[in-house]
Amino acid sequence: MTIVHVAEGIMEETARLLTSFAAAAESEGVVYWFGLELGELAVVTTLIVPDADTSTGAVQTSAAVNAEAIGAVAGTPLVLLGQAHSHPSRWVGHSSVDDRDTFAQFPGALSVVVPYYGRHGMELASCGVHRHIEGTYRRIRDTDVEEHLRVLPGVRDMRDRTRPQGRRRSGWLERLRLVFKGGRNEDR
Ligand SMILES: [Zn+2]
Repeated sequence: MTIVHVAEGIMEETARLLTSFAAAAESEGVVYWFGLELGELAVVTTLIVPDADTSTGAVQTSAAVNAEAIGAVAGTPLVLLGQAHSHPSRWVGHSSVDDRDTFAQFPGALSVVVPYYGRHGMELASCGVHRHIEGTYRRIRDTDVEEHLRVLPGVRDMRDRTRPQGRRRSGWLERLRLVFKGGRNEDR
């Protein structure tokens, strides 16, 4: 089964999008994960938020809405890898409705349930990781999550901040530059 990889920034953005569902009125949210499948590994690259009906506080998506989501990546090599959806409390199991209504219903589809509407981010240890295995969604034990979902480094800024940055212009060079700039009618 493919191991789905997702960069930290994509995780953070997923949580932010889930939280946005609960901004006006408290509601669960859903974000579809699209990406590249490369043999034994898959990489999430793209987040698509379907135009879900959240008027009940839960998420409902119609066939038309899901077709629209798929259409957004038409003509690209991206495929649906799974989704993340939020729950109101710390409970991150799959309800029977989740099992039945989750859009991704194919072997290996991933479903991550994020607690507290995503407001506390989506640290994997606090999430429920579910995978479509042998025809149904199964909760992956914490100790086995690594075989299904791995978080990749996002941004790393390796610059040494203690070292002086840049180059200071000497006084005469700066004056010369201003003179030169004044003589030419352009901003350089
Ligand atoms: Zn749910």
